[in-house]
Amino acid sequence: MSVEDGPSPQNEPDDDPQPAGARGEDPASAAQTEGAPEAEEPAEPEAEAEEEILFADLALPSLDEIRSALDWAFEKEDAPAEYLDRCAEHAVIVQAANRRMNLTKIVEPKDIAAKHYLDCWRTTRLLPLLGRTVLDIGTGAGYPGIPVALSEPNAHVVLVDSTTKKAEFVGETIEKMVIPNAEALAIRAEEYLLRNKVDVALVRALSSVRENVRLLRKVRHSLHDLIMMKGPSWSREVRAGEREAERLGFRLDTVWEHELPGELGGRAVLVYRAPGSQGM
Ligand code: SAH
Repeated sequence: MSVEDGPSPQNEPDDDPQPAGARGEDPASAAQTEGAPEAEEPAEPEAEAEEEILFADLALPSLDEIRSALDWAFEKEDAPAEYLDRCAEHAVIVQAANRRMNLTKIVEPKDIAAKHYLDCWRTTRLLPLLGRTVLDIGTGAGYPGIPVALSEPNAHVVLVDSTTKKAEFVGETIEKMVIPNAEALAIRAEEYLLRNKVDVALVRALSSVRENVRLLRKVRHSLHDLIMMKGPSWSREVRAGEREAERLGFRLDTVWEHELPGELGGRAVLVYRAPGSQGM
């Protein structure tokens, strides 16, 4: 475990593990997405219908290609083969759907394997998830919620997205893959947390640290741990969000940095204890 400063000059646009629209590190750009944390109105799925589909004509990688890439990415991990089979199955479903709606900009097999699945797997290794209720805030195509649910069948994972068609896609995927410990809901996270408490909230590629804690300010007592999965500029973000996090009672407990193979970039898992960790 380390907390080295690691902003990287080679921060590629796709270093952020997210699809079209939201850049995760910059509050200003985050505000341009449908995920603008201040927006109170319900999701408008129609607004997305006009969007150009970025990968409509791209050839679909085969299940075998993705499975081999997963073997490559997970070489040093102790992940069971059956788990990687399930990840490959999920990846093909996502990539196929990515031809009809913008779900992810990560489309090359090695990128898919490392940036989506290895990133999620390593995060699960760090967290005690057994028996926990986990909320994936802004799941998009199902990351990190689906890989997390697959890795820990004894955790209950709720995947929420404010964009109805994304939540519906994730719900259909859960049904198709038969993942009994996962459910998808079309709802804003802050609305879900008004009525429900969770042990762990996971946030990846939604917004900056500052905007993430602001998004949850009114419901901060509904969660125990807030986990943010970040790219190389995590430390700048932590500093920029420090005052707001402190003011709202989110305490940065652990930072865990890791490197993706093939020089695909640095990642960091930020573990914040939320105000709800007192007396839950
Ligand atoms: N976690 C995904 C990121 C998807 S992009 C990944 O790592 O690939 C962010 C997603 O968050 C979008 O699909 C958007 O619709 C959703 N979103 C934005 N604000 C939200 C909110 N307040 N509650 C729930 N979902 C939200």
